Amino acid sequence: MNKKSLTAVGLISGGLDSILAAKILKDLNVNIVGIHFHIPWGCASKNKAIELAQTIEIPLKIFELNESFIEIIKNPKYGIGSGMNPCVDCKIYFLTEAAKYMKEINADFIFTGEVLGQRPMSQLKNSLRQIEKASGLKGYLLRPLCAQLLEPTFPEQQGLINRTQLLAINGRGRKQQIALAKKYHILNYPQPAGGCLLTDKNFSRRLKDAFHHKEDNFSTIKFLPIGRYFRINKNFKAILGRNQNENIALIKNACDEDIIMELPDKLGPTLILKGADPSQDVLSLCAGLIQKFSKHKNSLTPQKMIYWKAQTPEHKKNIHAIILSNEAIKKIQL
Ligand code: SF4
Repeated sequence: MNKKSLTAVGLISGGLDSILAAKILKDLNVNIVGIHFHIPWGCASKNKAIELAQTIEIPLKIFELNESFIEIIKNPKYGIGSGMNPCVDCKIYFLTEAAKYMKEINADFIFTGEVLGQRPMSQLKNSLRQIEKASGLKGYLLRPLCAQLLEPTFPEQQGLINRTQLLAINGRGRKQQIALAKKYHILNYPQPAGGCLLTDKNFSRRLKDAFHHKEDNFSTIKFLPIGRYFRINKNFKAILGRNQNENIALIKNACDEDIIMELPDKLGPTLILKGADPSQDVLSLCAGLIQKFSKHKNSLTPQKMIYWKAQTPEHKKNIHAIILSNEAIKKIQL
């Protein structure tokens, strides 16, 4: 690394810290290339990342995650947080991918907006070191917001980045970051995100169920946040929309073999049934779920539903609901 003009690849999450890190380096005449990893349930926001990158005028490349990320969640090496969030493994994964991109575009180093001590699992000194080493970036991972509290990286050691221009922010407080945002006129940043659904107990339960039943492809997992989930038995799972938007999203993302079921007047939740060749009992139970979450919830008259296979919407059939108790529903809800 012996250049006049440096290029750095930065992880841009859509939060304030990473965009501040980018701005600090940009002001030190580093060419910035932002990258954003889009996880449908993650702690980052794609739209905000795009907006903030535009605010400070840096290019941003979006990486869509795929099956390989599911393996990280299933088999984390460095443990999980309060739910199924493997934050250390997740960061290592992002940085390993970023390192590949750095080589591809012949950039000089990677940066992130991490702050020492800000998050219990992945931002303690040991974790920061561990993440840097495991992603093969020892000496090439600069964290401008807390760099003065960490070992100097190669660009600092070689005098290509002036370490005194970097910061020493530590802990969970946000005062210094907010003051910097004001100084740089970055006013459209979001509040710190509560974040990642992997930390959520309910979402984690759905995910565990999906893994247990080998429904672990990325396209299935990415829709787990949508709807109410019911595990009917080992072969069947039903998903019920909670509002019109979810009903539309469920139909749009149904696989060819899925059964779609609704009230004939469509005034209620749409249900998607996953699993091959359901019996009449399974279909009646699904109809009962729709009834229980519709305007007919207190009626003791079993309602008639229509259903069809997603790939053959012209072949509609009818089925009557069975009346389900609240306890019966609780037993199967995920
Ligand atoms: S909270 Fe942790 S597991 Fe979730 S996306 Fe962020 S780093 Fe990954």
